[in-house]
Amino acid sequence: MDISAIIANIVEEMRAAPDRGTVARYIPSLAEIDPAQFGIAIVTADGETFTGGDAETGFSIQSISKVFSLTLALGKIGDRLWSRVGREPSGNAFNSIVQLEAEKGIPRNPFINAGAIVLADVNLAGYRPREAIGELVQFVRYLASDDGIAIDETVARSEEETGERNRALAHFMKSYGTLHHAPEMVLGTYFHACSIEMSCRQLAQAGRFLMLGGRHPEGGRVVPDRRARRILSLMLTCGHYDASGDFAFRVGMPGKSGVGGGILAVVPGKASIAVWSPGLNASGNSQLGGLALERLAEATGWSVFSA
Ligand code: GLN
Repeated sequence: MDISAIIANIVEEMRAAPDRGTVARYIPSLAEIDPAQFGIAIVTADGETFTGGDAETGFSIQSISKVFSLTLALGKIGDRLWSRVGREPSGNAFNSIVQLEAEKGIPRNPFINAGAIVLADVNLAGYRPREAIGELVQFVRYLASDDGIAIDETVARSEEETGERNRALAHFMKSYGTLHHAPEMVLGTYFHACSIEMSCRQLAQAGRFLMLGGRHPEGGRVVPDRRARRILSLMLTCGHYDASGDFAFRVGMPGKSGVGGGILAVVPGKASIAVWSPGLNASGNSQLGGLALERLAEATGWSVFSA
């Protein structure tokens, strides 16, 4: 299979695509990003890397950070996490509050904002926010084998200034006892996690452990294989919010999107893939990122459902 040629075709199609979606405006610093960009990076199980388009350009990973926060939180408290956050698709927008009251302050899954705020609370235990954020960034650097990964402080500040919806979610959950720390401390940790900046190449590298059943490609284990499978299951069922079913239908890979326009997709045993294009569709997922993965799945046959 000629992966370089497949990537070249995809990049060409995405460069000319008429409908690129619209960049997220509710976080002011994301509203300034040029929507004409598109990048893709693929790391295969044998360690080869293929890139195309703007694969080296850093972008705000936003909700893709929820995959890394979840991995860290499971490492800290294991299955006790599931008493504080559910494992069902929400069928609602990423920042929705509607289910929280009926479900007594327990978010539907770790990949909607409310769920990831719980992850931030778990990862904060025993730490100051600065230390918890430092631990997450170190963890992502280790996963990606890249010490150049850092937080974009401008994005973090922009989120703090405009994050009233997330504040509402956190305070509401605090009233039910789901959060153990002060909401402002938890939110500071959450906003910074969303503001990690990575390129497609770095993101595809960071996803390698999920492609490899939990093993780090440079030796040792990040998580047991059962945990890697479970994280991938949640990515498939909940990774694209209210459009998770559509993404599974079109692409057939576990994937996690972010409002920065990135998507991390994983084909177990085969590939870790990152795509990025800042324009979003109505569900808050990258318009061209989803289309590019659909094309890639068609051209390669990569899908968790392929025989
Ligand atoms: N930081 C964003 C928010 O809290 C993350 C949302 C996303 O990427 N879907 O709203």
